[in-house]
Amino acid sequence: MHTTGSNRRLQRRCSINSGKKDWVNIGFLTLTPIIGVVGTALYTWQHGLHLWMPLLLIGMYLAVGMSICAGYHRFFSHKTYEASPVVQVFFALFGAMAAQNSILWWSSSHRVHHKYVDHDWDPYNIKRGFWWAHMFWVFYRNEERDDTFANSPDLKANPIVMWQHRWHKVILILGGLGLPTLIGAAFGDPIGGLLWGGFLRIAIIHHTTFFVNSLAHFVGKPLYNAEVSARDNWMVAVLTLGEGYHSFHHRFPADFRNGIYWYQWDPAKWLIRSLRAIGLATELRQTAPPQVEQARMSAAIRLVENRIAEAPSTLAVDVRTRINTAVQHLEDAFALWRQHVEERAEGVSKAWKETRRRSRIHVRESRREWKNALRMLATAPQIA
Ligand SMILES: [Zn+2]
Ligand SMILES: [Zn+2]
Repeated sequence: MHTTGSNRRLQRRCSINSGKKDWVNIGFLTLTPIIGVVGTALYTWQHGLHLWMPLLLIGMYLAVGMSICAGYHRFFSHKTYEASPVVQVFFALFGAMAAQNSILWWSSSHRVHHKYVDHDWDPYNIKRGFWWAHMFWVFYRNEERDDTFANSPDLKANPIVMWQHRWHKVILILGGLGLPTLIGAAFGDPIGGLLWGGFLRIAIIHHTTFFVNSLAHFVGKPLYNAEVSARDNWMVAVLTLGEGYHSFHHRFPADFRNGIYWYQWDPAKWLIRSLRAIGLATELRQTAPPQVEQARMSAAIRLVENRIAEAPSTLAVDVRTRINTAVQHLEDAFALWRQHVEERAEGVSKAWKETRRRSRIHVRESRREWKNALRMLATAPQIA
């Protein structure tokens, strides 16, 4: 070690996560897909397919996958809403069955990812390559990581989190593998239950979660922040229970939604809203529409700044005039939005609804202006 010289030490300091290989993780992440996909296929080929098998897979996929997306991610890591202890215990139990370590470990790493995205300290830094961000980062012990979880004092103060941190491996074995085995046994086929609800489900949730760190930083559009690698992509959202609108999420991590429009595929958002409807979730945090629009406009303009600078002067003036009008609409939208919040808090009349509607009209007008500006720029003849 000492003879490897200062180069090695320097290299390690410069590239986080280049520590020793973690053979337990390597073995687990290699064997679970083999057993889960090949093993399940061969076993089912020999012993027959029954309806309860895919139903068990889907049921466990939803319970465990949602505990990661709506639980580990949107509740514990980002506190985008308040959840009742019953919901927290559910997320803690089923989240542990995902074989993605404890809430404390997961959320602490995830907060580091947000803070240092695309830089050395980012544990799943996409700049180190697609496969590194997808899963290779788990293959190494991170010798630089903070085992005191100093960035998560709120989680350390949560007894459910600390209890789960202590017992997550036991829950994984008893719940993640034992529970589907028992359900399979009830149908007379414990091994079929273990394979479909245990191994195959673990492999699927592993890789769909990993897609958020790889694909969602790789394909799609940087709609809300052109300076970081996070992307919005509906196909990734379909694969990941709604986590594919990742540009929005990195820009507004405190928002309980990832897909903010009603038509965007975000089952985790729908679950959180359903929990609110039955009184199990409160204080769902949402970004004000003018703020969302401002981020979107800034990101779009930033991508074409050079072209505006190089455009013929008359066109550049037209484009800038339209952008200024868009900015003015946004300022009006912000003022009306603040007014609607005050009117709503006073609770004396329903005038806030009209004020909110007017704010939204300004948001739409703003979008029309800046989009037209970009269209003018795109259709203008290029000068050599
Ligand atoms: Zn990310
Ligand atoms: Zn996040």
